[in-house]
Formats: sequence, structure tokens, C-alpha cells
Amino acid sequence: ATPTSIMAGSGRAAEFGILFKGGEHLELTHRIDTVLLDKTGTVTNGAPVLTDVLPAEGIEEAELLRLVGAAEKQSEHPLAQAIVTGIAEKGVGLAAVTAFSAIPGYGVKAEADGKEILVGTRRLMQERGVEVPQAAMDQLTELEQAGKTAMLAAADGKYAGMIAVADTIKTTSKQAVRRLQDMGLTVIMITGDNERTARAIAAQAGIREVIAEVLPDGKAAEVKRLQEQGRKVSMVGDGINDAPALALADIGMAIGTGTDVAMEAADITLMRGDLNSIADAILMSKLTIRNIK
Ligand code: ADP
Ligand code: MG
Repeated sequence: ATPTSIMAGSGRAAEFGILFKGGEHLELTHRIDTVLLDKTGTVTNGAPVLTDVLPAEGIEEAELLRLVGAAEKQSEHPLAQAIVTGIAEKGVGLAAVTAFSAIPGYGVKAEADGKEILVGTRRLMQERGVEVPQAAMDQLTELEQAGKTAMLAAADGKYAGMIAVADTIKTTSKQAVRRLQDMGLTVIMITGDNERTARAIAAQAGIREVIAEVLPDGKAAEVKRLQEQGRKVSMVGDGINDAPALALADIGMAIGTGTDVAMEAADITLMRGDLNSIADAILMSKLTIRNIK
């Protein structure tokens, strides 16, 4: 590889908002055969909005929101921000919180109004022994099939209701995925969210393979598993929990609007959130290699 062609290639890529950290990455990117896309903030806009509030029987909507909002106010998770903003817009005040802990990959636990509040996944409820009525489980399934992220709430071990948020896919995601597939690459979406929601969002973006319900430290393990199958893997993500997978992937691509931690771990930063930059990066790499030969 001549330094001149690498420099020219890097410069041209930078004009398109594709920042290669080093020349070696520009030389390697064309070898990728599998692209793992994080869901939230990568395939989607990453700006979820509170859409549904379904209190359990005998509980007022305002009471449910008072408790859920209080617990989520303490959380730094993007879902929590969406919930807190949505509750504030409804003009509901929050209960006073006396204790809080995040349960990564599952949800949150807090003490508010002297009650123990849980908000999170069905797995969280199962593990904490909260019984969720069948009717509520059916509602949950329905929300998930619509591509929404639904979260269950409990107060003092009893089911209290559910809330859901919706995120939208980027207008460019579907076309970008199609381009990668047409280039012969395997595109897989990976997320901590539940299987049904993940499938619904993936379908909107034309993605056929999904790895869902991955715990926060599990994305890197999935990269490794694919590499052990002999694949050359690119991970594309924006979040703190994507960083280990971005670092381990053959080529890590961070979304420029994401967290600094993701950008530090990645080999390439895509300044435009548009996933078309992935195919562009691969093409630039191909062109550079061709110029070298
Ligand atoms: P992702 O970033 O892909 O949503 P996470 O591992 O952060 O994945 O979260 C997985 C799931 O855990 C979420 O989809 C949600 O159901 C639940 N969860 C995480 N954080 C919270 C929270 N603050 N409040 C409620 N549920 C949460
Ligand atoms: Mg993300």
C-alpha cells in the first residue's frame, strides 16, 4: 500500500464525513462480509417518545405515572429520558424517591412514596416474582408487534401497569440496508430490546436477521461468535454499551452523533448518521486498494 494512495483515499472519505482512524482500516474495510447494526440510535433515530400508558385494574393513570416517572427520573437510560419527558408533558407530578438502582439490561428499581417500584422487562418481573395478568401480557405483545418498546411496572411486588415508547427508523436506513445487501453483505440487527419489537423495527428497515434481548455486555460476545464462523465483521453503533463490540469487530464504525466512548473504541467515525456511509466506506476502501494494485 502506498502512503500516497492511502492519504488520498482518507481525504476523499473525510469529504463524505467518513473518518478513518488509520490507513490500515481503509485497507481492511473492503473485506467485511457481515454488518452488525445496533438498533437504537443507529437504525432508528434514537429519540423515543412515550406513546402508551396502560394502568393495571384499580390504579389511576396519574398514580402509575407518578411512581414510574419518579423511578425513571433517576435513570440515565435514553428510554428513561423519553418516559420522564412524556410524563412531564402530561403535567403529572412525581413521587419522592428515597432509593434507586439501575438494573442494566432489565430496567430500574426505586423506592418512592415508601413503595418498592420496578420498571422494566418481562424478565425483570419474572425474576422478581411479580405476577403479570394474562390480559396485560397480551397488551404487551400487541405493543411489541407494533415495534414499540413496552415496559412493565410493579409497586411492592404487584403489577401496576405498563408504558410504551416508540422510536422511528431513520428515513435513510431502508435504502442503506438494501445497498449493503445488494453488495452481497449479510446485515444483522443487534439489540437489548425484546425479540418482537426488534423484528418489527428490522422489518421496517428491510433487515432479515435479528439478535435480540442481548444483555449490555453481550454484544461483543456476538461479534466473537460470528468471527469464529469465519466472518469478517463490522459493528456499527453509537452507545456506551456498543464500545466493547466496536473494539472487537474487524472494523468498528461509530455514529458521530453518538457517545464519545463509542467513537474512541471504533476504527471509523460516520459523521453523518445516515447508514449509507457504511456502503460508501466499503467502496472507498475498494477504490483505494484498486489504486494501490
Ligand atoms: P437497548 O439500549 O438496546 O434498549 P438495554 O440493554 O439498555 O438495551 O435495555 C434492554 C431493555 O431493558 C430495554 O429495552 C428495556 O425494556 C429495559 N430497560 C433498560 N433500561 C430501562 C429503564 N431505565 N427503564 C425501563 N426499562 C429499561
Ligand atoms: Mg444505540
